[in-house]
Amino acid sequence: MFFHVLTLFPEMIMDGLGTSILGRAMQKGCIQAEAVNIRDYTTNKHQKVDDYTYGPGAGMLMQAQPVYDCVQAVLANIKQRRMEQAGDAPQKRVRVVYVTPQGAVFDQKMAQEFAKEEDLVLLCGHYEGIDERVLEEVVTDYVSIGDYVLTGGELPAMVMVDAISRLVPGVLNNDESAVTDSFGNGLLEHPQYSRPQVWRDKEVPPVLLSGNHKLIEKWQLEESLKRTKERRPDLYERWKEEHDSSK
Ligand code: SAM
Repeated sequence: MFFHVLTLFPEMIMDGLGTSILGRAMQKGCIQAEAVNIRDYTTNKHQKVDDYTYGPGAGMLMQAQPVYDCVQAVLANIKQRRMEQAGDAPQKRVRVVYVTPQGAVFDQKMAQEFAKEEDLVLLCGHYEGIDERVLEEVVTDYVSIGDYVLTGGELPAMVMVDAISRLVPGVLNNDESAVTDSFGNGLLEHPQYSRPQVWRDKEVPPVLLSGNHKLIEKWQLEESLKRTKERRPDLYERWKEEHDSSK
């Protein structure tokens, strides 16, 4: 999977994605990522990419022209790469996500859906955001990472790249399975323990030392349900509804 992050701060993206599991995944070639500088596409002789908003309020807004030209250049590159690799143009429209507090709130289900894409374009706003007219022309999805406002779209884009990459085959090692993590089955994950067996008088639950896989799985599900009910009653109710109706 290839992530194309369009931003005014490309170094922030590449610094953020280049370490640990994602850095390794890029080296292995499981995922690819590029940060494209929107400023490189401005036709303004002073390299300007923003201007004052019309109407009351003194904010600066990213202008339509550099964003539009940048998106078009990235889409053209994707098309050319796919032509070279497979001999045909992309069958379906490449998704262009604008990260914005005004979007649908990102969750694991969305991450799973995006992980099926071959390419994903992520557009980062800054200042007051981006001129609406270019958004209407190029954006296929509006995604928020939560109900709060950040200074720019770079952190949201990195959050999305991280969550989606974990679901791309080969990115996680076997012992880091995304399936058993929280939300994999709609619940929060059960508590986990490592050595030593006793720490500050607290013992690892004996069932985990029993070697009985059936009992361990039963305990894990019970703990998972208990924890979800306590911490995320909304998820718990949804899980119960789905499981009651499938009986
Ligand atoms: N004026 C915009 C509004 O009220 O909706 C907020 C602009 S925000 C200061 C600047 C940029 O940060 C946005 O264009 C967007 O790309 C990004 N951003 C801020 N909060 C975000 C969030 N919760 N989720 C995704 N992107 C966000």
